Amino acid sequence: GPLRQEDLRNLAELGMGNGGSVMKVEHIPTGLIMAKKIVLIDAKPTVRKQILREIHITHSCNSPYIVSSFGAYILDPNICICMEFMDKGSFDGIYKRSGAIPIDVVGMVAASVLEGLVYLYDVHHIIHRDIKPSNILLNSLGEIKLCDFGVSGELINSIANTFVGTSVYMSPERIQGAEYSVESDIWSLGITLIELAHGRFPFYLDDADQELSAQPRFGSPREPMQRDMLDMLAPPMSPASRRRSRRRSKGVSLQGGVQELSILELLQQIVMEPPPRLISSEKDGGKFPKAADVFVNACLIKEQRDRKPPAELLKYEWIEHTLTSGLQMKKWAESV
Ligand code: ATP
Ligand code: MG
Repeated sequence: GPLRQEDLRNLAELGMGNGGSVMKVEHIPTGLIMAKKIVLIDAKPTVRKQILREIHITHSCNSPYIVSSFGAYILDPNICICMEFMDKGSFDGIYKRSGAIPIDVVGMVAASVLEGLVYLYDVHHIIHRDIKPSNILLNSLGEIKLCDFGVSGELINSIANTFVGTSVYMSPERIQGAEYSVESDIWSLGITLIELAHGRFPFYLDDADQELSAQPRFGSPREPMQRDMLDMLAPPMSPASRRRSRRRSKGVSLQGGVQELSILELLQQIVMEPPPRLISSEKDGGKFPKAADVFVNACLIKEQRDRKPPAELLKYEWIEHTLTSGLQMKKWAESV
């Protein structure tokens, strides 16, 4: 039967994003544990029904690299989406708790994301649109799966937050207004892989001139830009969405106007500067295999038409090596 709000019991809060919050819930009739995402939407009833229809497409997604869906329902003014619960959470939480991710595991993340993208694109003609560490989930079986893909154009249009759709993982061509393509997901994957392998987001804010750079200068101490801070660089929000994301403003006080310029500068730098590198110093060269560097560089080619699609990137040496290395993902997952 259809999912009903009254059949779900809240167990714990799993996290909160720009668009809504995620709860761990029990489906009482079956005893199944699920993750329930509550998205506040700003749409007319007819549009909402369309959004629900679109979300039901995810019901037909069946891949070991995609978080499966149990269904969705409207709880005015929200839409609730119930999905497979991934007990080890997302990779941003994992690296923030335990530090940089071992490069072999990062290779497994790359392989899984590529497989997920190939599945979404080939089988459902869907582009993910939001590849980043918080949308890549892990469970204690060692499975790595994608969630939050852009199935619903209507949903994206009606999420009551102006910052949705703007992301620091966005490719140069997207920043310049091009349509989403599967290659833009590949750029976001490249940024994500460096973030996981380094244990921090790969763009830096220069203390002296507030200039953003992907190339940290040697010897000059720089603070990595925190994700929470990046979130604060968002354009002004409506009072309602500001209330909803109050959590994010903790400890950061940027005054109106300044942050608008900053996000524009940040995005402009992504367009203008050379892309970040996995190996940007000799020290990194000792830590990461050459094949990983080659792969990440291929993801971060700035020109969209020169970037390769997922199926071709799956053939790269680093990915093939990772998939045949017999890495015990289950063992690693149990340890985090
Ligand atoms: P943004 O809103 O910027 O996309 P986000 O991805 O962190 O950020 P949400 O999608 O609302 O925001 O997710 C919040 C958190 O909930 C995630 O970071 C993740 O840790 C957790 N989460 C989401 N889905 C699941 C799931 N299926 N199983 C377990 N944890 C989940
Ligand atoms: Mg998410």
